Amino acid sequence: MPKFACVCGHVINLSSGTSEFELSLVAEQKIDEIGCALSDRWLSEDEFYETIDQGAVTIYRCQPCGRLHVDQGDGKFTSYIKEVNEQVGPGKVHLAGMAKDS
Ligand SMILES: [Zn+2]
Repeated sequence: MPKFACVCGHVINLSSGTSEFELSLVAEQKIDEIGCALSDRWLSEDEFYETIDQGAVTIYRCQPCGRLHVDQGDGKFTSYIKEVNEQVGPGKVHLAGMAKDS
């Protein structure tokens, strides 16, 4: 059963079927394409999934820490973590500016 261990220690089960932590990143262009196909004719469920899967990127969201793990294929992932605003907050920027002036 394929699993993915997040840096935070949480283990994501990749084979549990569709779930709320499994996301698809789809280009607006692809959504337009599907919209056009739908306005031209009726799409079967299979055709819909086939069309949207072409170019869609699968992303797993770690629920405890919020990291996004982008599936690169071949079992490889690129991970992204939310920036913490406190690290570049206005207080510190102001202090840095003052330090330069003195
Ligand atoms: Zn995590």
